Amino acid sequence: MESQNLFQIVQKHLCSCTQELDITPRIETLLRMPMRELHVALPICMDDGSMKAFQGFRVQYNDARGPTKGGIRFHPGQTIDTVRALAALMTWKCALHNLPLGGAKGGIICNPKELSTVELEKLSRAFIRSIFPVIGPDNDIPAPDVYTNPQVMAWMMDEYSRCVMKTSFGAITGKPLAIGGSEGRLDATARGGWFAIAEAARGLGLNLDGATVAIQGFGNAGSNAASLGRSLFGCRIVAVSDSRGGIYRREGLDPAEVARHKDQSGSVTGLPGSDPIDNEELLELGVDILVPAALENVVTDRNAGHVKAKVLAELANAPVTPEADEILASQGTHVIPDILCNGGGVIVSYLEMVQNFSMDQWTEEDVHARLAARMQAACRAVEGLTRTYGTSPRRAAYTIAVKRVVEAMQTRGWL
Ligand code: NAD
Repeated sequence: MESQNLFQIVQKHLCSCTQELDITPRIETLLRMPMRELHVALPICMDDGSMKAFQGFRVQYNDARGPTKGGIRFHPGQTIDTVRALAALMTWKCALHNLPLGGAKGGIICNPKELSTVELEKLSRAFIRSIFPVIGPDNDIPAPDVYTNPQVMAWMMDEYSRCVMKTSFGAITGKPLAIGGSEGRLDATARGGWFAIAEAARGLGLNLDGATVAIQGFGNAGSNAASLGRSLFGCRIVAVSDSRGGIYRREGLDPAEVARHKDQSGSVTGLPGSDPIDNEELLELGVDILVPAALENVVTDRNAGHVKAKVLAELANAPVTPEADEILASQGTHVIPDILCNGGGVIVSYLEMVQNFSMDQWTEEDVHARLAARMQAACRAVEGLTRTYGTSPRRAAYTIAVKRVVEAMQTRGWL
C-alpha cells in the first residue's frame, strides 16, 4: 500500500460520510480545508548557552459551531499534516458530542525527553507568545495532548495571562486544580472511553467482569484506562506498553504497581513478575478488549488480520487506518471510533471552561455525572444510526458530526 499521511487518512473517513450525506463538492471542499494555520519559529536559549530553533504549529480547522478547541502535542515526529489531521478530528469530535466548539490542534517538533524542565518551560511559554494573537477563551482554547501535561498547561495559561495582562483561566484547559483546573479532568479521556466500551459490551453481550484487556501506551489515556478498567469493571489488564516496549501478565497486572515502577524506572518494561512483549505483539494478543492509547496508524492493513480482540476501543486518535478498518469489519471486530471513544477529554475540558467562565468549582461527582450524560447521548446517537442504516460506528459518528457542522455553516450563511 502506498504510504499515506495522517491528514489523507482522516480525509478518507470524511469522504466516506459525505457520500452518505449527499454533500455537494463545494461544501466538501470547505470541509476538507483548515480555516487557519499559524507556523512559528521558536528560538530557545538552551541550558548549555547554545541557541536552538524549534518549529511549532497551530491549526484552527473549523469554527462554525464555536471557538476552536484542541490539544498541543510535543513530539519529534510532529508534522503540519499530523496537526491538520488532529485539528480535523477535533472538529468532528466536538460536533459529535454536541459541544459548542470547533476544532483545532497545536504541536511543536521537539523531543521533550531531551529537554530540561527549564528548557521545557521556555519552549511552552515561547509557543504561547507566538500564537497568542489567534488564541483565547473566545476564539481558540488549547489543552494537553501527547507529551504535554497539567504543568505545561499551567505555564501556558500563565504566559497567555501575561500577554493579555489579566489572569485568564478560561484560555487553556487541563490545568492543575490550584489554578482553575477541573475535578475529573485527569482521567476524563479514559473514563469517557470506558463509558463507550461498557455501552458496546452491553450490545455485544460481553461481560466486563474478568474480561481481558491489552492497552498500548501508558500515559494519561492509557494508564488511567488501565486503573479504571480494573477498578470500575473488574477487567483483567493483561498487557500494557509504552514507547520502550510492553509487559504481559496472564493473571492481570496491578496498574498502580505498574505506575510506581514507571515512575521509578521511566518505563513499564522490566516490571518484576511480568513477561516482556513488544508493541506489535500487544496488538495481536487474544484479549477481549484492545485499547490503542498511544499514537496513530498502529493498526494497518499489515496487522489488522491478526487482531483477535472482540472490541477495539480507539482511545488514541486515528490508531486504525481506513484499510485496516475494512479488514476489522470483515472479521467482526467491533471498533469504537476515536471521535466517540476519546471524547471524554474534550468534554471535561469544556466543563472546565464553563466553570472558569462562571467562576465556579464543581465536585468530582458533578463532573462525572455531566461526562456520563454527554457520553451516553453520543453513544446512543451513534448506535441508533449504526442500526438504522446498517453502517459502521465510525461512519455513523462522522455522519452525525459532519451534518452538525454543515448545518452551522449553512445557518451562518457560509455556503
Ligand atoms: P501521553 O503523552 O500522556 O502518553 C503517551 C503514551 O504513549 C506514553 O506512555 C508513551 O510512552 C506512549 N508511546 C509513545 N510512543 C509510542 C510508541 N511508538 N509505541 C507505544 N507507545 C508509545 O499522551 P496521552 O495524552 O495519553 O495521549 C495518547 C493518545 O490519546 C493520543 O493519540 C492523544 O491524541 C489521545 N488523546 C488524548 C487525550 C487527553 O486528554 N490526554 C484526549 C483525547 C485523545
